[in-house]
Amino acid sequence: MGLRGFAYRLLTGEKSGQIDDCYRKMVAFDPRGANPYLEAVVRHARENVPHFRDLLANAPQDARAALATLPVLTKDIVRAEGDRMLAPKDPKWPRKPHKTGGSTAEPFQFLVDLHHQYWARAAELYIFREFLGLEPLGTPTVEMLQSREVWSVQRTNWRRNLARKVARWDLQQAFVMNEPHMRELVEALRRRRPVLIKTYIGSIYQLALYIREKNVRLPSHPRHIYCTSELVRPHMREVVEEVFQCRLTDVYASREGGPMAAQCEKGNYHILESNVTIEVLDDAGLPVEMGGEGNIILTCHHNFAQPFLRYSLMDTGALGGDVCSCRRRLPILKVLSGRVSDHFRTADGGVVHGQYFASQFFEKPWVRQFQIRQHGFHDIEFILVPSAQIPPDEVAGIEERVRWVMGAECRVKWTTVDEIPRTAIGKHHYTLCLIEKK
Ligand SMILES: [Zn+2]
Repeated sequence: MGLRGFAYRLLTGEKSGQIDDCYRKMVAFDPRGANPYLEAVVRHARENVPHFRDLLANAPQDARAALATLPVLTKDIVRAEGDRMLAPKDPKWPRKPHKTGGSTAEPFQFLVDLHHQYWARAAELYIFREFLGLEPLGTPTVEMLQSREVWSVQRTNWRRNLARKVARWDLQQAFVMNEPHMRELVEALRRRRPVLIKTYIGSIYQLALYIREKNVRLPSHPRHIYCTSELVRPHMREVVEEVFQCRLTDVYASREGGPMAAQCEKGNYHILESNVTIEVLDDAGLPVEMGGEGNIILTCHHNFAQPFLRYSLMDTGALGGDVCSCRRRLPILKVLSGRVSDHFRTADGGVVHGQYFASQFFEKPWVRQFQIRQHGFHDIEFILVPSAQIPPDEVAGIEERVRWVMGAECRVKWTTVDEIPRTAIGKHHYTLCLIEKK
């Protein structure tokens, strides 16, 4: 693994052996045969998880045939079933609540085991090596990620900071994108000359617009831009690829499934079938024909603590067969609609990433669903479907954090509803900016 890898692992305590082992299995995986990982998780769920034990009691032995008998699993069912969704504790595979990352308009907590975490890390490694042609460790990278990660890394210990230096990763916040911060980011790009920029589409798009508008000259261009968590809309991709003169690789990922599909150089998303099974079903839960649009349904192969079988991701897409002019044999998924977040605009001409606001509700058990709207520079509305009494002290804390980025005069309105209005424009938006564009 080399000196850099050794130093990185020494500093982070990361178990590279297990991750490498999962990675090798991903490389060796043949999507044309039976899927041993799907078989294992279906067998495990059927034997050890009360919810699935009941549903699969009379199902066929074959994993795919058994899966086809299951109704689609929703967040509501998972919440209602509670502990019946869990397997008994396995001392070999410690488990913990999944808390970080991702974006969703429905806060939701579940358990993941260490096994799942190794496979998710292996999937990252696989995408780096097989899709980008890069080694993550040692590749000069600028990561523009959510501020919470930035803060937690800076706050935690010197070991993690040193580990990032060893790995050559530079971490920048990507939430508050105002002019001073854009200047800092441009400076970081000049100084670091990254080969890779890892970020959200919304943030890199804002930076690309800034670079174009100010006619900034960069000394070098990255080889790749790696985006995840949000739907990449074509107009954004166009601007980003033109400004940075490189390919944007999007990874379709979810909190429940980790990285699920990665985009190849031909623009197709290939499903990582060693890790997940993706189906496209109609509203009645029946498969749509190849190429037809429907709901994207996930079966995650490696989370044995709380298996997700036939789980609705609330995105729509289409399966595109397994023929791509790149050499990869993994089947193709077209993602048609997914999570979208608007940036909110500040009076000084800056923007704040929608996820900054959405993250205020992560891990809040009293929120079932939410949408956040910006009506004016100083006028923000939280629309909530509460699941319990809203605690007043938390309201004060959230308002304070909103004013911290939007200005002290910002008004925050709280509206509770029974259901988030599913208007055409708002269907997949967890944040909506309603200020007329100039
Ligand atoms: Zn391809």
